[in-house]
Amino acid sequence: MDKKFLEEAKNSLLQERKRLEEELGNIAQKNKKIKDDYQAKYLEIGNKEEENAQEVTLYENRLSLERDLEKILKEVGEALEMIKQGNYGICKKCKQIIPEARLKALPQATLCLKCKKEKNN
Ligand SMILES: [Zn+2]
Repeated sequence: MDKKFLEEAKNSLLQERKRLEEELGNIAQKNKKIKDDYQAKYLEIGNKEEENAQEVTLYENRLSLERDLEKILKEVGEALEMIKQGNYGICKKCKQIIPEARLKALPQATLCLKCKKEKNN
């Protein structure tokens, strides 16, 4: 993998991390003790029953969004760490080289498509 490609991957990962952190910051509280861990914020709307129901729905939506974002954030962090260690673009599982096209589309990919599919099954 050439230097330029790595540099570009690193830049998009850093940008993605910033975007994720901003988005998470809006809906969740950062856990200061655990890296890249967030807690969805509970929003108080009011004390009426329908307001409480609204709060719960809102919180549940935030919770699932927060989990999704946090998952991507962790992958991004992992990919950045792999760049640092010089093993970026190598599948974590089968140790095959991940095609550049896949990395371009998904810079935080740490598994090749085949292993990813197996993992999801
Ligand atoms: Zn693989």
